[in-house]
Amino acid sequence: MKVLVLGAGQLARMMALAGAPLNIEVLAYDVGSGQVVHPLTQQLMMKGLDTAVTYADVITAEFEHIPHNILEVCEASGKLQPTTQAIKAGGDRRLEKKLLDRASVASARYQIINNRDDLEQAVNTVGIPMVLKGALGGYDGKGQWRFTSVEQADQLWQEISPFLAATPDQAIVAEEFVPFDREVSLIGARGKDGSIAVYPLTENTHHNGVLSLSVAGKTDSQLQSQAETMFKAVAETLDYVGVLAIEFFDVGGKLLVNEIAPRVHNSGHWTQQGAETCQFENHLRAVCGLPLGNTTLLRSTAMVNILGEDTLADEILSLPQCHVHWYGKEKRPGRKMGHINVCANSLDELNDKLGELAVYLDPAAFPVLCK
Ligand code: ATP
Ligand code: MG
Ligand code: MG
Repeated sequence: MKVLVLGAGQLARMMALAGAPLNIEVLAYDVGSGQVVHPLTQQLMMKGLDTAVTYADVITAEFEHIPHNILEVCEASGKLQPTTQAIKAGGDRRLEKKLLDRASVASARYQIINNRDDLEQAVNTVGIPMVLKGALGGYDGKGQWRFTSVEQADQLWQEISPFLAATPDQAIVAEEFVPFDREVSLIGARGKDGSIAVYPLTENTHHNGVLSLSVAGKTDSQLQSQAETMFKAVAETLDYVGVLAIEFFDVGGKLLVNEIAPRVHNSGHWTQQGAETCQFENHLRAVCGLPLGNTTLLRSTAMVNILGEDTLADEILSLPQCHVHWYGKEKRPGRKMGHINVCANSLDELNDKLGELAVYLDPAAFPVLCK
């Protein structure tokens, strides 16, 4: 099978690595340059979307902010999984909220803001404090504002109005501020036959809006079954095929959906070492119409993101059950450069191992782990 991935970043790279043992060839379409590249080397493979679409058996995506004209070409070929509708819902918070409402899945109260009057109205409908999020193009907490007192309205509007004007069809989704106890995510796959396989919930810690640490297997069965019910509702509403990630707020044991990602997800990287079948392989299996792989947790596993660093102490490679994954990307401040998966036989042992790892990390670059 030949799978074309829209997007040529680390997620396409890890799909290529996971596909090789199954004889699944993965090519990456760099949406920016319009070229098809090898997902591991970034070497030019083919020119033009049409050539690539004809060559591929299946087309999928590693991110949701894909120009709609590209999605249309792919959808028309009948090879795109998940569908344009699912990808668009992940890339436009207005569609995402509508989808969650349609699937009857709980999420934060919201209002869509297009003008100053809408902002005033949101004070009543959503309430203060609220979180304002750009409907289009947001990731890693970018394009977000916190609205915490009515006096802030003028200054806030001064920041928001140029943001709205900068992108056609841009809007703001104003959401109630959720006083969550923690954030968790569920990664799961749905096959072409409608079968579903989900991983255990992952607990996620962010720093400045960017995921820093994920730990799998820390939640009870009550939370897991809530998450699974919501996953099923969203996936079935979309007739979804592939891996889907759902981020949740845990508020006193009750889950609210934060957002969805119609793709493999950073908070699922731990599955490379911690699960029987990793999320990348399961995504490929799903979109290729193959049976889904077992998602059982093999052992307690954590994932630490490497942000803005392109070297690590060699000693880390000597730590037992510690696995380093680099993405081969050029170093930039704060950029996701790689991750480290750490496994252990229990959560206590995992904590000890994360402590041992922290000794070799720069506290400035790994604030969550080294605090
Ligand atoms: P990602 O990189 O995960 O796609 P994003 O830019 O789409 O991020 P969100 O996940 O919507 O952004 O928000 C980033 C973080 O901001 C969340 O993980 C959470 O910590 C916080 N946050 C978002 N919405 C709310 C809310 N309504 N109430 C409280 N905190 C929130
Ligand atoms: Mg997001
Ligand atoms: Mg998020």
